[in-house]
Amino acid sequence: MQKILIVGAGASGVYLSVLLKQKLYDCDVIVLEQNTAPLKKVLATGNGRCNLSNKDMSIDYYQSDNNQLVEEIISSFDMVQAMNDLGLYCIYQGNLLYPKSEQALSVKQILMQRAEELGVLFLYEQEVLKIEKGYPYIVKTNQQQLKADYVIFAMGSEAGRLSGTQLSRYQILRKLHLNVVEPRPALTQFFTQPVLKSLKGVRVKGTFTLLEKGKCVHQEKGELLFTDYGVSGIAIMQLSAFCKPLHDYELSIDFFDEEDAKKLYEYIELRRKKGYNHFYDGLLNSKISLYFEKQALNSTQEIVSMLKDFRLHITGLRSYESAQVMKGGLSLNELDHNLELKKYPHIYAIGEILNVIGLCGGYNLHFAFASASHVAKALEREWNVTNS
Ligand SMILES: Cc1cc2nc3c(=O)[nH]c(=O)nc-3n(C[C@H](O)[C@H](O)[C@H](O)COP(=O)(O)OP(=O)(O)OC[C@H]3O[C@@H](n4cnc5c(N)ncnc54)[C@H](O)[C@@H]3O)c2cc1C
Repeated sequence: MQKILIVGAGASGVYLSVLLKQKLYDCDVIVLEQNTAPLKKVLATGNGRCNLSNKDMSIDYYQSDNNQLVEEIISSFDMVQAMNDLGLYCIYQGNLLYPKSEQALSVKQILMQRAEELGVLFLYEQEVLKIEKGYPYIVKTNQQQLKADYVIFAMGSEAGRLSGTQLSRYQILRKLHLNVVEPRPALTQFFTQPVLKSLKGVRVKGTFTLLEKGKCVHQEKGELLFTDYGVSGIAIMQLSAFCKPLHDYELSIDFFDEEDAKKLYEYIELRRKKGYNHFYDGLLNSKISLYFEKQALNSTQEIVSMLKDFRLHITGLRSYESAQVMKGGLSLNELDHNLELKKYPHIYAIGEILNVIGLCGGYNLHFAFASASHVAKALEREWNVTNS
């Protein structure tokens, strides 16, 4: 009987454990998890509703060091069908896919029920510290050592602090002399200068541009939230995925993206001629109006610039605790087409431990599940060849 050890009971690891027990005969599947329970992060996803995937699935929403492979993995996976096979009914809300129950808990329950029915063994409070080279592999945890014919790295990331902040996930890889792209928080909020504390709690719909030396790096239409440290909101989190370390960025806010600058100029001219007191009231949220009023702008051009290109200096990104993912991780250059390590046969890697991130909108869970499915298919092919 072949023994497969999966390191990490997150979305990718638990889903793979189910697929392996369904597809391969005669194998022991053991999941080693450092936490006291599985799927902690899944419970927090999509504000507790778990946004599993997106109808608009494209490589354009991902960043990695092998986009061709990622594209193949994401496009050959059908999340609706996969969840249906497990017994989870899902529905689209716009482009976003959720469980019909709108509860992330359902995803956890369904995955764990299938895994337990199929006889997957879960061992908790087992922090894997080292993999010893040689065959079979020796997997050393904080409590014991186990032999394994196959090892799957599904250690995720420390983003959100929901799957542990231990660095052992990266140390295991470095001890094997594998290239780990330095992990950094992404899909997180910005610290800004100035901090507009008087606007704390105000949400703004508009177009938001990440600028470097005045040039557009990336633009998002959506929603921003002013906070007591800077800015948050989905649009901001998306922009954070495009920030590089040690680069200097500005945020440009277009509060009036429904009008171009020329039309807005004409409108503001007319409005000024009417000589309204409290000129900005009725144009913007009342707290923003008050803030603009205090700026005492005189010319129409200045007002239009403020409304269409309001600038904040980005002084930093919030840390991994507030981030949804970590950009970086195990380089895809270390893996072959099947996500098997080139240097270590029978060791595979899936999910967020890899140097792959998606934007907000279900893209990260889609990759976690799709990469698990990709490895399950590869192992199934190998099993069939070996046992035929
Ligand atoms: C607040 C929040 C909301 C999110 N919302 C969404 C969303 O709605 N849609 C979406 O697509 N994505 C979302 N994401 C991102 C998504 O949840 C993750 O990308 C995805 O869950 C990653 O799954 P994973 O299995 O690769 O890793 P993880 O979920 O991080 O799981 C890895 C597991 O490995 C364990 N582990 C790590 N190291 C070791 C070790 N050395 N020994 C033993 N065990 C170890 C960890 O404890 C953990 O249980 C969100 C993330 C956060 C933080």
